[in-house]
Amino acid sequence: MSISKILLYYRFTPIPDPTAVMLWQRDLCESLGLKGRIIVSPHGINGTVGGDIDACKRYIRKTRDYPGFHDMEFKWSEGGADDFPKLSVKARDEIVAFGAADELEVDADGVVGGGVHLAPEEVNELVDARGDDVVFFDGRNAREAEIGRFRNAVVPDVDTTHDFIAEIESGKYDELKDRPVVTYCTGGIRCEVLSSLMINRGFKEVYQLDGGIVRYGEKYGNSGLWEGSLYVFDKRMHMEFGEDHQRLGRCIHCGGATENFINCVNEDTCRKQVLVCEACAAETATSHCGRPGCVEVAAQLVAR
Ligand SMILES: [Zn+2]
Ligand SMILES: [Zn+2]
Repeated sequence: MSISKILLYYRFTPIPDPTAVMLWQRDLCESLGLKGRIIVSPHGINGTVGGDIDACKRYIRKTRDYPGFHDMEFKWSEGGADDFPKLSVKARDEIVAFGAADELEVDADGVVGGGVHLAPEEVNELVDARGDDVVFFDGRNAREAEIGRFRNAVVPDVDTTHDFIAEIESGKYDELKDRPVVTYCTGGIRCEVLSSLMINRGFKEVYQLDGGIVRYGEKYGNSGLWEGSLYVFDKRMHMEFGEDHQRLGRCIHCGGATENFINCVNEDTCRKQVLVCEACAAETATSHCGRPGCVEVAAQLVAR
């Protein structure tokens, strides 16, 4: 039996013809039997693909042939082609949808004017040196932070990455503009963009956690400044860095500790993902998101 793997990667670099790169990547993945998602934009590439380990190795070699991807790092993860429904390779305006395609500037070294990259140990050194003046700024959607975040982190009120610009322009965070701000996200890609948008809007001392929460958690487990579980975008939904993790998530129905996200039972009109413990999720009456219309739909389903 052959071994399968998943590759995760991104690279910010100017791509003059994203469509050509997209077609080349699609052919390459098809020829190697890889499945997953790849987005190519004028600013770079972002992908997650899975398949046979030898096919993955060939994919890395071939992809690095493109000059801008020559030194791209690939992160290996457990899984394979079966973890994806299909192969999707798209050319878009942005590899992360902040709605900032015209503002984001990249050159051969990556994003221009982004926050200073800090390795996990450098983040801890910064906090040791500057104490409570350091602010952790969550670069993810608010939902993700419900089950885990950095100690005392600021969690912006955003449903999607698209909401960030309005949020940081709202004035709510102006008092942070003169303080050291450490942006963080799952694997680092969102902070590449977010940190540059913050600097452009007057935040003077902005850092970004290199490799994201994933790398920090691998280094410090549950004994560093990270608290709780990490929301992940695959069927696992969340992961922990060891067994003694804090439990920050609360069931919206009973208040019990949980990391269990469910899709609201009102599938036709509600796309909300909410924290509902397994016991409450097992009952139709409590498998809704709490909004009046959805409560009603759940009640109707129970009555049926
Ligand atoms: Zn519950
Ligand atoms: Zn709902």
